[in-house]
Amino acid sequence: MAKRIGLALLALIGLLALVALLAQRQIGEWLFERAVNSTVGVDRSSDLPDGLHAYICGSGSPMPDADRAGPCIAVLAGERGFVFDAGSGSIRKLGRMGFPMDRLDAAFLTHLHSDHFDGLGELMLQAWMAGGRGSPLPIYGPEGTERVVAGFVEAYTIDRGFRIAHHGEAVARPGGFGGEARTIRLAGSGRRGTVVYEGDGVTIRTLPVDHAPVDRAVAYRIDYGGRSLVISGDTVRSPQLARFARGADVLFHEALNPGMVGRIGEQLAERGDADGAKIMADIPDYHTSPEDAARVARDAGVRHLVLYHLVPAPPVKLMERVFLGEATKRFDAIDIAYDGMRVSLPAGTRDIALSDQL
Ligand SMILES: [Zn+2]
Ligand SMILES: [Zn+2]
Repeated sequence: MAKRIGLALLALIGLLALVALLAQRQIGEWLFERAVNSTVGVDRSSDLPDGLHAYICGSGSPMPDADRAGPCIAVLAGERGFVFDAGSGSIRKLGRMGFPMDRLDAAFLTHLHSDHFDGLGELMLQAWMAGGRGSPLPIYGPEGTERVVAGFVEAYTIDRGFRIAHHGEAVARPGGFGGEARTIRLAGSGRRGTVVYEGDGVTIRTLPVDHAPVDRAVAYRIDYGGRSLVISGDTVRSPQLARFARGADVLFHEALNPGMVGRIGEQLAERGDADGAKIMADIPDYHTSPEDAARVARDAGVRHLVLYHLVPAPPVKLMERVFLGEATKRFDAIDIAYDGMRVSLPAGTRDIALSDQL
């Protein structure tokens, strides 16, 4: 009896496999249709509660990584959208996450290391074409931002002509192409920082941080609806940043594990790559260890710490413990960012909700 049932089961599995084989194309078409229906033209931000929503579009660093784009955090604050840094590959992640490009109001650069702006051309393109802009995207950043923006605008000018010729001026509005630099002057920035943007209940402040020899690096604080978040940019451990972040709900802080970077340096030296080993020896002195980022979070009294710009990025969960080291002993509400993570802070609540949007 059991043998018969076994044979019947085998025959059924074989039949199903045959049907699946013959209907591969139909199954593929059905899957495609389903994907189109559920994703194309759908505004996934429309049912978000009023408040602050941070999209991790890039949690990585200059190190090549299949899963992590270069540094990028986009923020929805009420009706307005902002992008802080635009590392390589991050803007495509942002599109995948359903960030409403038509609500993008401005971009902000933390400093002019290229891994923080090498996706800027794509951001300007998406703001123009997907966002339907009629005026260039304002791009705030430290002195030098005007040169960076001018360079990207020049590099994309040929492409601009092609897109207008192909789609027409009603779709590719000529005036909406490119970006417009808004240089931040940092002189006289107090402990609360300098207000660089205000509108619709959103206040964005900036504070100089220490990322020497990069002499113009800043952090940003975004306040809206009684909620607030802080983005460190690249910096050494900074007591000023802790004061700037006082009482914020979430601190997004860069992190580099010196022990792990040191081990990579040793290996490079052993394999004869003296230049690579020198770079690994240099970089810990202008970044913050996870332990020190935890100290900043504790000193600031923030409610949650999210580490991003991870060097080296832990590829699997088991390595996250190694990366964090003793950090959780200093501050226990720590998460390691990943591309696709969204952190939501609904206005008028104390909720901090993390979700995966990829
Ligand atoms: Zn940097
Ligand atoms: Zn960096």
